[in-house]
Amino acid sequence: MLALDAPAIASRAEAGQFVMVKTSPGVTPLLRRPYSLFGILRDARGTPTGFSLLVKRVGVGSQLLYDASPGQVFPCLGPLGRPFVLAAAPARAWMVAAAWASRRFAALAEACRTRGIRPTLFYGARTAAELFCLDLFERAGADIVLATEDGSRGATGA
Ligand SMILES: Cc1cc2nc3c(=O)[nH]c(=O)nc-3n(C[C@H](O)[C@H](O)[C@H](O)COP(=O)(O)OP(=O)(O)OC[C@H]3O[C@@H](n4cnc5c(N)ncnc54)[C@H](O)[C@@H]3O)c2cc1C
Repeated sequence: MLALDAPAIASRAEAGQFVMVKTSPGVTPLLRRPYSLFGILRDARGTPTGFSLLVKRVGVGSQLLYDASPGQVFPCLGPLGRPFVLAAAPARAWMVAAAWASRRFAALAEACRTRGIRPTLFYGARTAAELFCLDLFERAGADIVLATEDGSRGATGA
């Protein structure tokens, strides 16, 4: 998880959007990498101060983000993409996520909570170790239904 200080982006961001991150100050890698906004970070008054990203290491760009040091700067473009459309309370929200795809839903669960909507998350992964950030969904008051392929947590998908 990478937390970035970015009040200008955070104040406009909505659940379901993403940013394009320049992962290196040099030319390699040249292209920005897309990352979903995982959580919106707020100060004690609730004012947005930044956002977090959940980063899976697959190549050069994600490795640079994974190795980030405190204070390092990563230019970001955003927020981009179409946000989720939220139902009005008391409607229910149903979210279906698989392991890394959960990164799009933490902000949505939080947005539901602030609108008085109790979300249900159907969350599957290969193993229990890949059920990332369960605590965040629990804190957002989500009902969570788990399933793993190997049966190490929740229902088995086999
Ligand atoms: C809208 C959007 C939102 C995204 N949000 C997130 C997010 O929140 N968190 C996150 O971790 N990723 C996210 N991704 C995927 C992320 O952009 C890529 O994993 C990232 O660009 C990889 O860059 P890299 O330089 O590390 O890999 P590269 O050096 O570009 O690729 C290295 C190797 O990994 C393969 N590869 C690239 N991406 C993936 C992948 N996602 N899974 C498996 N293999 C891959 C390539 O084919 C190549 O073989 C998102 C992608 C999109 C389009």
